[in-house]
Amino acid sequence: MSFDSLGLLPELLRAVREEGYETPTPVQAQAVPIVLSGRDLLAGAQTGTGKTAAFTWPMLQLLAPQASHSASPARHPIRALVLTPTRELAMQVEEAIRTYGRHLPLRSTTIFGGVNINPQIAALRRGVEILVATPGRLLDHHQQGTLHFGHLEILVLDEADRMLDMGFIRDIRKILALLPPRRQNLLFSATFSDEIRQLASGLLHDPAFVDVAPRNAAADLVQQVVHPVDRERKRALLSHLIRTRKLDQVLVFTRTKHGASRLSEQLEKDGIAAAAIHGNKSQPQRVKALEDFKRGEISVLVATDIASRGLDIDQLPHVVNYELPHVAEDYVHRIGRTGRAGLEGEAISLVCVDEHKLLREIERLLKRKLPSEVVQGFAPDPSIAPQPILQGGARGGGGRRPGAPSVHGGGPRRGSSRGSRA
Ligand code: AMP
Repeated sequence: MSFDSLGLLPELLRAVREEGYETPTPVQAQAVPIVLSGRDLLAGAQTGTGKTAAFTWPMLQLLAPQASHSASPARHPIRALVLTPTRELAMQVEEAIRTYGRHLPLRSTTIFGGVNINPQIAALRRGVEILVATPGRLLDHHQQGTLHFGHLEILVLDEADRMLDMGFIRDIRKILALLPPRRQNLLFSATFSDEIRQLASGLLHDPAFVDVAPRNAAADLVQQVVHPVDRERKRALLSHLIRTRKLDQVLVFTRTKHGASRLSEQLEKDGIAAAAIHGNKSQPQRVKALEDFKRGEISVLVATDIASRGLDIDQLPHVVNYELPHVAEDYVHRIGRTGRAGLEGEAISLVCVDEHKLLREIERLLKRKLPSEVVQGFAPDPSIAPQPILQGGARGGGGRRPGAPSVHGGGPRRGSSRGSRA
């Protein structure tokens, strides 16, 4: 299928051409005509499928006919709202809106927590058609009376499963109550739990359904390998792999924020340029880490699952699971960061004896066994007994000192890491 048959405006096709895209991705080919027809949509698509463009293009097109060149704020009411679980995703979605909308006179802005609210208020006062927001900060703005949704036509919930995982359901319900009932609703989610179905059935009217995210779609594009290793030797193995294989642009996952910070510090000591990105970092710190990584100034970005969501990094060649996630589906999300848009990617998992059960769960989800290769010099010591992995603890990736204070985890199912709140 070509872009010409999608029915997009010349201004959008021009922007798409300028991005160098040659063909629509499956979710784009399926979702764009549905959204253009005005229908509600339930879409199963995860990061890396081109889902952002799949809702951004038709949204811009639907808003374009009434777009105004006037400077008057009254001529730029909020007409579309995109809710995202994290500030990173909000920024990336808005960047996509600006990129694809660059030949249209539509305005957009983001509102998310963790930063000064006043510049956001100023941007809203100037008038924007498209607002990209995280739920908590959106409600803060509502309380301050800076938001008016009387002209809202389109609502998008992006990564709705993550929003529910992060405990945003009540905020979402409050937000829905602020919106005019007649509107078009688009819900994007990588997974379909009962909770998502429930949210969808209350929100969507006669929705069309598009699903391009069979659970292990990403997994097929990605070369996956497991390196068995002792818990205490994971860091040494990681440094060894990075050095001997000259890996750069590596995204490394840990289970906890504490583990992410510690690992990035240790890698630095090994002479490897690394930075951690997680919910305890300030917004400027996160943005800087991501930009340094994209520019190649640091070669390793260590992230927790939550912090990694929505990171838009093109052509990421390597993902390392320094610790396996507690939830098997998170493995699929993680490795979905590589092998994007048809590019080859590699996912390396460092697995210690504590994590064999997690590995089995992942293999069950993938419906196949992952190849396992011992790295020379790092064969695990068979006499080491497994230890339980504490939820939110730092075990399994270098071991937590007995008696060390329990650290707060960044796992998505804890409901406590509210990425968008100040
Ligand atoms: P997303 O799934 O929205 O996170 O997008 C993943 C990446 O794919 C982004 O970096 C987009 O710039 C890129 N992308 C989106 N649509 C296309 C396309 N049709 N062809 C090639 N790349 C695309």
